[in-house]
Amino acid sequence: MPEKRAILVIEDDHAISNFICRALTANDYKAIPAASGKEGLSLFFSHSPDLVLLDLGLPDMDGLEVLEQFSDLPQEVPTIIISARDRESEKVKALDMGADDYVAKPFDPAELVARVKAHLARYQRLTQGGQRAENGQVIRVADVEIYPQSWKVYKAGREIKMPNREFELLKFLAEHPNIVFSKDRLFETIWGFDYVGDSATVTVHVGRIRDKIEDDPSKPRIIETVWGAGYRLNAKG
Ligand code: CA
Repeated sequence: MPEKRAILVIEDDHAISNFICRALTANDYKAIPAASGKEGLSLFFSHSPDLVLLDLGLPDMDGLEVLEQFSDLPQEVPTIIISARDRESEKVKALDMGADDYVAKPFDPAELVARVKAHLARYQRLTQGGQRAENGQVIRVADVEIYPQSWKVYKAGREIKMPNREFELLKFLAEHPNIVFSKDRLFETIWGFDYVGDSATVTVHVGRIRDKIEDDPSKPRIIETVWGAGYRLNAKG
């Protein structure tokens, strides 16, 4: 029997935590509850969960701080924010910081489980795709090197820190060089249809990637804007 996927549930409200853990266990996941940010981080390191459910309002630290510590890690673990703070700015901030999804309280446990399942499947696809593409391969564009399997990017030999979505977007464009993709198409591919946000998210992420990989982000040569059409990675850089 395959090992159960482990889900770390960082939530200080015991009733909600129990409710989530029961729903996960009923769906054959292993639920690991943590009642504070510190406990969550400690269990994260000791248990290497497959996915994290993270409440933003924690007693000892802000959920966004916990998220920030996750984003410093080399390993990529999908994170879904669960919060009563149903405010657009919080959502956007969490998503910008590398969270994969956002579920507002109160939520339907079936929907939460469906999202957990979808994100686990997506990450599995991405990492398996990476293994196939890797095969000792590295994608080189100008002085930028992209390692699909290890999720690393280097510019002029220096490693560049890139959150999940930025990396996925760059990798996707680099794997399809010289092809123009509309923002909508990129949004659907990288974020998915039922994701919070819209194609403006793509613009923001392209801007961040350019800041990191372009010699002059105001005159991009690697990720080019094709006016009225979208973006294209220029394989010649
Ligand atoms: Ca809370």
